[in-house]
Amino acid sequence: MEAVLWTGARLEFVEDIEVRPPGTGEVTVRVDAAGLCHSDLKAVDGHIDQAAPVVLGHEACGVVVDRGPGVSIGVGRKVILSPLRSCGSCRACRAGNPTRCRSETKAPTPAFRRRGAPVEQFARVGAFARRTVVHERQVVPIPDAVPDAAAALLGCAVVTGFGAAWERAAVCPGESVLVVGAGGIGLNVVQAARIAGARQILVYDRNPRKENVARRLGATDFRATGSLDEAVRDSAPEGFDAAFECVGRPELLASAVDALAAGGRAVMVGLPPAGTPLTFQMRALAQDKALLGCRMGSVDPHRFIPGLADRYLRRELDIDALVTAVAPLREVHALVAALRAGRLERGVFDLTGATPDLRTRSLS
Ligand SMILES: [Zn+2]
Ligand SMILES: [Zn+2]
Repeated sequence: MEAVLWTGARLEFVEDIEVRPPGTGEVTVRVDAAGLCHSDLKAVDGHIDQAAPVVLGHEACGVVVDRGPGVSIGVGRKVILSPLRSCGSCRACRAGNPTRCRSETKAPTPAFRRRGAPVEQFARVGAFARRTVVHERQVVPIPDAVPDAAAALLGCAVVTGFGAAWERAAVCPGESVLVVGAGGIGLNVVQAARIAGARQILVYDRNPRKENVARRLGATDFRATGSLDEAVRDSAPEGFDAAFECVGRPELLASAVDALAAGGRAVMVGLPPAGTPLTFQMRALAQDKALLGCRMGSVDPHRFIPGLADRYLRRELDIDALVTAVAPLREVHALVAALRAGRLERGVFDLTGATPDLRTRSLS
């Protein structure tokens, strides 16, 4: 089977990956579309601790094609995949907070093998392969009407960005919002803030190309030049009610905290490299301000993602605007180069075979 592999030294398109049958509580999913997320590159760049070889990919949709004992979801259901292989029984899971699970595990036996040796699943998913095996709790049924590319993004970029604004910071009508970084996640923070009724949404991104899509999704202000501190002073001298750092850089997170008005919430959405320290003025947190971490939108995907699919189908949520490239798996190097060059909102692999080569489109 075809897959995209990080060997520990190289990113490779390979054709000799094998997948095992599903065990108790597990399903086999035929992956139809999978988004290329910055987190996948963090494994390649050594910014996260990742055993290799590993099949990359964690943002995907597909169809359940096989199931092990004790599984209730039916074969043939369209699903999105989630990295949250939560235990289902700890205090956090019982309270409906699987992103805070205390005993999250990977699959008991490796899902993939290559030339007789086990191969890891990135983020417990390994979506850059035509088939993968995950726990039943890692699949969320969605309507067949949601097209594959949009459905794939629901699993990471959309749920993470939307959840950060909607649940973690709980943006309220009339609030002012700062979004640092207009990638796939930041742009979904923008959409959620708009839908929540924010009166001002400043997007700060060094790439001026992002302005069109940011404004289309709800940004009222956009800055690509000057420092973040200057942008904040110019746009909201009194400070922001909510600020989202979607890049993973400590100086930007410190500026996001500094940017808060009294009662404001700063949310770390971007994942910094392991071991990154943060230095900021502690006094910045006085006046009831908060600095919050956020994992996968801090939501239960089973409760939250079906609602996002409905918003997409009602055209409240624009996911199609974020899909700026589609490619077959074998074009992985071209898609990665485009992402690194800042030319993509999201690049999506089409695993169905319907896309013969890399297709990009410019932003409208
Ligand atoms: Zn991701
Ligand atoms: Zn748990």
